[in-house]
Amino acid sequence: MSSRKLLNDCFAHGGTRLRHDEAVALITGRLSCVTAVRRVPLRAATGRWLAAPVTAPRDVPLHRNAAVDGYAFAAPAPEGTLPVAARIAAGDLAPRRLAPGTAARIFTGAPVPEGADSVAMQEDCSITPDGITLPHGLKRGANVRQIGEDVAKGAEILSPGARLRPQDIAALASFGLASVRVQAPVRVAVLSNGDELRDPGGSIAPGQVFDSNRTMLKALIATLPCTVTDLGILPDQAPRIEAAIAEAARNHDLILTSGGVSQGEEDHVVAAIDRLGSRHLWQIAIKPGRPMSFGQIGDCVFLGLPGNPVAAFVCFLLYARPAIVALGGGTPDEPTRYHLPAGFSQTKKPGRREFWRGWLETTPQGPVARKFARDGSGLISGLRRASGLIEVLEDETQVTEGAAVRFLPFDQFGIQG
Ligand code: AMP
Ligand code: MG
Repeated sequence: MSSRKLLNDCFAHGGTRLRHDEAVALITGRLSCVTAVRRVPLRAATGRWLAAPVTAPRDVPLHRNAAVDGYAFAAPAPEGTLPVAARIAAGDLAPRRLAPGTAARIFTGAPVPEGADSVAMQEDCSITPDGITLPHGLKRGANVRQIGEDVAKGAEILSPGARLRPQDIAALASFGLASVRVQAPVRVAVLSNGDELRDPGGSIAPGQVFDSNRTMLKALIATLPCTVTDLGILPDQAPRIEAAIAEAARNHDLILTSGGVSQGEEDHVVAAIDRLGSRHLWQIAIKPGRPMSFGQIGDCVFLGLPGNPVAAFVCFLLYARPAIVALGGGTPDEPTRYHLPAGFSQTKKPGRREFWRGWLETTPQGPVARKFARDGSGLISGLRRASGLIEVLEDETQVTEGAAVRFLPFDQFGIQG
């Protein structure tokens, strides 16, 4: 029996040019979870993908309790003064049954005794030497939290693939669970290759550029439950590149690179993937983005993003991110598109989907989407100005000021806005 987790040649496809949605559907449809399952304590579970459903093992709350500090009584509230027959604090177990015609002093979280069904807020009660006078018109059940009103025992509260948020951790803790089964982090190796690239911190000469993509990709990967191995800038020597990639493929789930992924000749990384496994050049009808390489060596996926920083960034969000989610056992989710009036006009070529760098501006009429003026896919300044992407669909040829555009905030991709 094969222990392989991925399909053979999972990125093969018949078409020549892919639409954006076709590319996303192929990635999320073909890739499956490759990571192991681990039980981790709650403190280590935030941001991880859940591996097994969680069912509430008991009711929350476990007992009927007071939502405020005040006086417990049986509705309807009797007229006149009621003697205070008991005092029940949070943490008191099984208080005695409340006698008819009496009230009990009670504190937030304390169990409401048998014989009572409502709690009056202390601020609304008048205290007299003989007892208390209750406010009028309180409904039966007022200020009482019922058993299981937050979550009922047996309810499935989290499904596999959910990304655990602080509020989910709170729910798990409220059931008394101290640990949870999650997927192990996706093991990602990042590398660069190109004679012009230099590592930041070192010297540079005209004709060379600092390798900004590798650091950017590591920062993007850090928004997901992954571990990263930095393979550095690989020198332009085929045998060394091939050896480094073969080694990385043995103990990583994904090898990610940018630049030099389209042609061959000078593109040693893709040549190495071709020799070690299988690879396909995907022409996706989007801008920014040039062809991208999608490949695999056994169960290790290879993704070659475009070299231009803006294209590398956008293609990471659109394609590498859902690939990592699928490999890591998460549920890939389409980012929400907000329809907002455009604060600019611009024409566009038909036949491809474009992702412009944009941000929101508040006007007296409400928020409008603005666009970075220059489109160059090498301009990191445009990425920095932006807080999201303006998506213009394949068949659109014109965005007109005041008409609705689709805005995808970066926080939809796990990046702070
Ligand atoms: P390529 O895809 O290799 O043709 O590269 C396209 C552009 O992206 C060129 O200007 C490269 O210098 C630039 N580029 C490629 N890799 C990187 C990188 N790691 N960091 C910054 N720029 C890069
Ligand atoms: Mg290059």
